[in-house]
Amino acid sequence: MSDVLKIGKISNELIAERVKNRLLSERIETPMTQSFNPSVEEEITPILENMLKKLGLDLTNDSLSETPRRLSKMYVRELFWGLDYSNFPKITTMKNDLTYDRPVEVDNISFCSLCEHHFATIDGKVNVKYIPADKVIGLSKINRIVAFFARRPQIQERFTKQVHAALCEVLETDDVYVEMTAEHYCVKARGIMDSTSITTTSYGTGEYQ
Ligand SMILES: [Zn+2]
Repeated sequence: MSDVLKIGKISNELIAERVKNRLLSERIETPMTQSFNPSVEEEITPILENMLKKLGLDLTNDSLSETPRRLSKMYVRELFWGLDYSNFPKITTMKNDLTYDRPVEVDNISFCSLCEHHFATIDGKVNVKYIPADKVIGLSKINRIVAFFARRPQIQERFTKQVHAALCEVLETDDVYVEMTAEHYCVKARGIMDSTSITTTSYGTGEYQ
């Protein structure tokens, strides 16, 4: 591995560490009792197997037999990988040589997350605005930061602030605004059964306070 790659990797771990510390200090980190460890996938399978059996489902049936393993794999590898900071997106920042000091706005970043109360889908979009200071990042990195925090059990208010805090940390500016609109399937598919309501949250600091 070249020195450049090594330095890139180390600084990325540092960025992830800085984001985590910022979330902790702002008291917006996802509540956890231990670090996320993907090896729990194997331990979760028999627990889910037991749950399905308690519901009376026949796990010897071909169609159901692999469901506990599939569910476990889905939660650990696909839906909740954002709990693991080693998966924080690789962010390369560039010096703002153009001294572009007007707002950069990225709209309609789509995401799929899960509400932490029911593990039901949250389907939504994010609009981000920031005013570059000394650093700019590749635009797709904003999508990747949204995707990282979407892959956790979430509540929309905290999710909004987590994306905001991470962008402030990565961009080294407080002039950041995040707005989120989402459909919550725990409202749509159960409970009140409202299929049209949309929830909007927003958070901004600096010029966007
Ligand atoms: Zn819910």
